[in-house]
Amino acid sequence: MTENEILAVFEKTGVVQKGHFLLTSGRHSATYMQCARLFEYPEYSEMLCAELAKRFGGEAVDLVIGPALGGIIMAYEVSRALKTRNVFAERLDGVMTLRRGFDVREGQRVLVVEDVVTTGGSVREVLRLLEDRGARAAGVGVMVDRTAGAVEFGCRLESLVSMEIVSYPPDECPVCRAGAPLIKPGSRAFIR
Ligand SMILES: [Zn+2]
Repeated sequence: MTENEILAVFEKTGVVQKGHFLLTSGRHSATYMQCARLFEYPEYSEMLCAELAKRFGGEAVDLVIGPALGGIIMAYEVSRALKTRNVFAERLDGVMTLRRGFDVREGQRVLVVEDVVTTGGSVREVLRLLEDRGARAAGVGVMVDRTAGAVEFGCRLESLVSMEIVSYPPDECPVCRAGAPLIKPGSRAFIR
């Protein structure tokens, strides 16, 4: 699939949202990516996760892992395409950990997946967890790399969409100037 075909799926499923958004950084943006919307649609989730899995086709992968919450369904779908096991990591008292009897063993080659990478913090925490257990990262696969390839994990990175989302400081925001109401993503309420 080309990046344009992937973006068309993102638009159809509501992942790409157009409007006037307040980002957690305090900046404003006319575009917001909500990857959770993709997983409303099993057929599209399967399609895009299979596409990502295909890009790691040459790698030996024993296990797929994703950080909760964004990486849970994704790890499942990517592992289904690769015909491997999958687990998810979750934070307990702020520390990324494996619970529920999930196990990663020494020497295993593990593919890390995440829906959106902005700073890469969660992915790094999962990579550390793998290292602590003597497992090897087979790579990192993400739906949307918001750093446009600038993020560095010390292993192979594959993304379906790689783009910097344009944002503005509030006093320089053209959408504010156009008078559009501001939305905090994840809520339905207008801020002003
Ligand atoms: Zn604005």
